[in-house]
Amino acid sequence: MDDAERWRDLDLLLTRAGRLVGPGFEPGPELREFLQSPDCRVLCVGAGGLGCEILKDLALSGVVHIDVIDMDTIDVSNLNRQFLFRMKDVGQPKATVAAERINARVPGVKVTPVFGRIEDQPADWYRSFSLIILGLDSLEARRYMNSVVCGFLEYDDEGQPDQSTIKPMVDGGTEGFKGHARVILPGFTPCFECTLWLFPPQTKFPLCTLAETPRSPAHCIEYAHLILWGQVRPGEEFDTDNEEHMKWVYERAAERAKQYGIQGVTFQLTQGVVKNIIPAIASTNAIISAQCVLEALKTLTCFSTGLDNYMMYVGSSGLYSLTTKYDKDPACPVCSPGVPLDVDPDATLQQFIDQLLADPSLGKHLSAPSVSYGSTNLYAHGIFEADTRPNLSRRMGDLVADDGAVLTVNDKRLRGPMRVKVRYGSAMRA
Ligand SMILES: [Zn+2]
Repeated sequence: MDDAERWRDLDLLLTRAGRLVGPGFEPGPELREFLQSPDCRVLCVGAGGLGCEILKDLALSGVVHIDVIDMDTIDVSNLNRQFLFRMKDVGQPKATVAAERINARVPGVKVTPVFGRIEDQPADWYRSFSLIILGLDSLEARRYMNSVVCGFLEYDDEGQPDQSTIKPMVDGGTEGFKGHARVILPGFTPCFECTLWLFPPQTKFPLCTLAETPRSPAHCIEYAHLILWGQVRPGEEFDTDNEEHMKWVYERAAERAKQYGIQGVTFQLTQGVVKNIIPAIASTNAIISAQCVLEALKTLTCFSTGLDNYMMYVGSSGLYSLTTKYDKDPACPVCSPGVPLDVDPDATLQQFIDQLLADPSLGKHLSAPSVSYGSTNLYAHGIFEADTRPNLSRRMGDLVADDGAVLTVNDKRLRGPMRVKVRYGSAMRA
């Protein structure tokens, strides 16, 4: 198959204008040349259920230079959906095997694997990619990657994001028959931290339902697990990895289900409910990955306007999908051009730093902050500590005269600077 034939569908998107194209789109063969050049490098974070699909979709969509990072090895339970892996691969690193399979299967593609932790890679490595796609299942890993891409973001003097510092990121996630895809353009769209409330803590069933009005197999299982266990085996800690414990809960749950005429309590379901396992569904992964890679292609070439900015998909009862334009949080400690903070101009710099550390939203990101104003270090740890220490007892109003000034706070806990907008407000006027 020649190139024109092989990339016919992609070329239809990249070589024709239309009413739905993105801003600045200029159709032409250069776009495919760019996608396939070493200037266009895409990082896929995760080589599990979503990662395998994302890698396949990227490779078949014409992206040539792809890196994949994953710290896991292949488990036999992955094989039903992580289709790049075979029985003989069990125990091998996911990233390595996934890269080998894609490279062997899709001519011309160069997938480079990294078997390791995302936290161990230097910032410059992440900076070298044109775009990053997340195929992760953990909130903490997503927050980490968000802090990496937002750490590159810089604002100009007018508080506008510097375009050249924006690292686009596409995030996919699935949970059973539900999933989401979102596009994060730091400084323009909400970042992960802006919308943390989208990930509420797991809700458990009310105990009274379990004890009095069970209606589902899960209710019966949780009754045996949370209530009966403590009554019948007091003082004994329930261990989810203990087969006998699990079997005990299963048998009690089955008895209770029979008593209430409820069908469907199985040993496998008991394990799932007690360990809080939400089954991964191959079709959901395929749908969400396709959306993520489509958004990646749009972002890289502008052949169409991108998702603005969050798509949810629900396939559990019927089929439902919704796109929501979420807003940035102006007080986001990770991406805001200046988190507004009311400051007493008579407070000392030390008191200001204490205020930062005690702030319920900002303090948890900080341990020993350094503060600067423009190019001036107000207080800095390290080699400037002795020089800047006298400032700690000086008035904020003297150090920073402008109401509304944006201070830069750096801390070893932060991947990038936190920007704080000082508001002297009523205290200044009084
Ligand atoms: Zn944010």
